Parts: sequence; C-alpha cells; structure tokens
Amino acid sequence: MKKEKKQPMRQCVVCREKFTKRDLLRIVRNADGELFFDPTGKAAGRGAYICKNPDCAEKFLKRPNLERAFRANIDKDAVESVKSQLQKYLEEEYTVKKNSESGDTEMN
Ligand SMILES: [Zn+2]
Repeated sequence: MKKEKKQPMRQCVVCREKFTKRDLLRIVRNADGELFFDPTGKAAGRGAYICKNPDCAEKFLKRPNLERAFRANIDKDAVESVKSQLQKYLEEEYTVKKNSESGDTEMN
C-alpha cells in the first residue's frame, strides 16, 4: 500500500536550515549512548542531521557540535569514529576530487 506522506523536515545542525531527510546525513545516538553514522536513516535512536551541502559537512568535521545536537555529553572517541565514518561516506558519495596536490605518483 502506498501512502503519499509529507516529507518531514529536519534541521541541519550546522547551517540550521531545514531539509527533507533525503537531503540529510544522519548521525544517531541510540539508547545505549552509542554514536554512529547512519547512512540508511533507519537506525533506532535520536538523530542529528547534517545537510548534504559539502560546506556543512566540512564545518561539521572541523567542529562537530554533537553535544549541542543531542544535549548530552558525547565521548570524544565516539565523535572521532563518527567523523571518520562520515568522511568515508562523503568520499564515496562525492568522489572527492583529488587535486594534483595530493598526487601520489610514486617515483622510482
Ligand atoms: Zn547545512
């Protein structure tokens, strides 16, 4: 059965703009206080959202304001782990342009 549901809007924790879920990346803090990046958007727990604007992702990675988003103390290691999960996802998603700067041509 199909239901035409209105897309719920969620706020990006970085720019504070509202987006539909499909335009957001979700970070979840579950009942056990575990923090993880949730690419499916379906994991149980409280979510914090970052829009898919690369600027926001970048700002978030520099300064993850998750404690504010979750109104809880967040373990630093957990934040680091989420950041790397997010970074990896973004790299795959956007196939980050590799500039000549990061050229890793080996010289023999
Ligand atoms: Zn944003």
